[in-house]
Amino acid sequence: MFHMIIAYPELAFDGDDYQSSFDAMTVTVSEFNKILESLYENDYILVNLNTVWTERTVGQNRRRMEHNTLRLPKGKKPLVISIDDPCYYENYTGQGFMEKLVLTDTGEIAAFGHDPDGHQVISRELDIIPALDKFVKEHPDFSFNGAKACLSLTGYEGIFGYRTNTYSTGMTPEQEAFRASEIEAVKPIIEQLIETGWYFGCHTWGHINLSNRKYDADAVKRDLDRWYRDVGDLVGNTVIYLYPNGAKPDGGDDWHKTGDMFKFLQSEGFRIFCSMGSESFATEKADISAVICDRLHADGTTLRNYRDRYLHLYDAKEVFDYENRPDYGYDFGEDEPETDAPAGTAQ
Ligand SMILES: [Zn+2]
Repeated sequence: MFHMIIAYPELAFDGDDYQSSFDAMTVTVSEFNKILESLYENDYILVNLNTVWTERTVGQNRRRMEHNTLRLPKGKKPLVISIDDPCYYENYTGQGFMEKLVLTDTGEIAAFGHDPDGHQVISRELDIIPALDKFVKEHPDFSFNGAKACLSLTGYEGIFGYRTNTYSTGMTPEQEAFRASEIEAVKPIIEQLIETGWYFGCHTWGHINLSNRKYDADAVKRDLDRWYRDVGDLVGNTVIYLYPNGAKPDGGDDWHKTGDMFKFLQSEGFRIFCSMGSESFATEKADISAVICDRLHADGTTLRNYRDRYLHLYDAKEVFDYENRPDYGYDFGEDEPETDAPAGTAQ
C-alpha cells in the first residue's frame, strides 16, 4: 500500500505542521522508483486483486470466497499494489504533491501541478499513478494481463483532483453547476484508467475511522450511500473495501468475529476487506462470504523502522531518500549494539 508520493520534497519537508505526517505516511518519487525497480528485479508481477478469488456456492445456499489459480509466467511472484486516497485533497495543494490527474495529448494519464517556483507542470514522473503506468509500459512483464493497482477512494473532496463531492449543507446552483462540470471532466480520466488496468475500491466517503465508537452500522450505511452518490456512480461497482487508517470495524477483530458493520458491508456486495499490518496476509472467512487482508505499507515509518519486514520486496537502506527526508533519525529497526559488552569485545 502506498499513499500519494512526494514530487517536491523541499515543499513537503519545509518544517511546517504537515511535515511529520508526510514523512510518516508517504514516500518520495525517488524512493518510489527504487521500490519499483527492486520489486521488478525480485520477480514480482502485478495482479488485479479482483482476480485472486471467485465467490462460489458450497453446500446448501452457502457462498464462499475461494482462491483462484493464477497461471503466472514461470518464476514470477504475484503482487497487489493499492494506493490509498488518490483524491488530491485540498490541504495537499502547495505541499509538494501533484494536484490532479489529466490526459496528455496522446491520451495517456499524467499529473498536473505546480513546481516550487509556481510554474505549471504536467508530468508522467512526479505522481504515483502515471509513474506506475509508465513503469509498466517500459516493463510489460511487471504486470499480469495489464493489471495496475487498486485506487482506494474516499468521496469527501471528490476523486483524482476533481471536486465531484456533494456538500452536506446543501448546494447553491453555482456549486451544483461546478460539480457537474467536474464530473464531466473526470469521466475521460476514469475511462482511461479502466482501459489501462486500474481498478477501484471504497475507502469510505468521509475517511471515517470504523473503530471509533461514535460510528455504528447506521453511520456506516449513511457514509456508504454518500460514497455511491459521489464516487461509486462514477467509477462503478467494487467488491473491495479498504478501512481508513487500517481501523477494523465492530471492535477491531474482523478475522474471528462478524459484527453488524461487517455484515452490513458484506450485504452491500463487498467481499474483500483490507486493513494494514506488519505482514501481508489474506484469509477467507468461514462464516460469511468474505476475505480479510492485511497490507504492508510502504512509507517513511516502515522505511525508517521495519527494514526486515520488507526485505523480500526491497531494502530500505538502498531506497531511503537520505538527501531529502527530515533528520528524524533512523536505524531501520536494527537492534542497538549490546551495551553490556565492553568496548572492543568481539561479538
Ligand atoms: Zn486513507
